[in-house]
Amino acid sequence: MSRGRADICGYCGTLSPTTRDHIPPKGIFPSPRPDDLITVPSCASCNQSASRSDELFRAYLSLHGGVDTASTSRLWDQALDGTPHNRRLHRRLLEGLEPVWLTTPSGVIHGRGYGGPWDSDAHDTTIERMIRGLYFHHYDEVLGTRVRVKVHWLRSLEPTLLEATAECDQRSVGGGQFVYRFGRASDHALHSIWLFEFHKRHWAGGQTAPVEFSDEAHVQLGSG
Ligand SMILES: [Zn+2]
Repeated sequence: MSRGRADICGYCGTLSPTTRDHIPPKGIFPSPRPDDLITVPSCASCNQSASRSDELFRAYLSLHGGVDTASTSRLWDQALDGTPHNRRLHRRLLEGLEPVWLTTPSGVIHGRGYGGPWDSDAHDTTIERMIRGLYFHHYDEVLGTRVRVKVHWLRSLEPTLLEATAECDQRSVGGGQFVYRFGRASDHALHSIWLFEFHKRHWAGGQTAPVEFSDEAHVQLGSG
């Protein structure tokens, strides 16, 4: 359980933050939104810097998630019912994507969705921010410039990944709409590992390491 210190910005450490930032971005939950959303204190500047990548992340998630679960189908409908700006964004992204059948790792078709490249900058920006925010939420420490965050794309939830994170803590938000696992090394607190599952349809992961630490020495977290 988080102690949730509220006197500094969870991202940059500035004193007296004036806003609270949702992690993950609240837009990825269709309304009615769950009442157990996680927030961290944030200064106005850190909060505002996230809005564009969060918006793109939400739009891609609604497209890639398909419409075969209650929450992904609501997310999809609400993207289309949204503001003209959101509808235009949705349509523009849709034009660059191909309809595909969604399959489980064993090849069973479970629905229809859209395949195609995500805007990787927006994806990675949102995932990195979530890692930094959740680190603060759970450990009450600002990572700031002390660490680099490495983000991994995960096309599926591979068994090896589940095994690698089996000892990690697991939390769920919104009745399983967002599930995550995390842990940090007991002797190296800046080394942490994160695994995110969105609507049981999209996965991402990441690691933190001190800035002076080399890439080769990172703990392996699947193929990214
Ligand atoms: Zn800040």
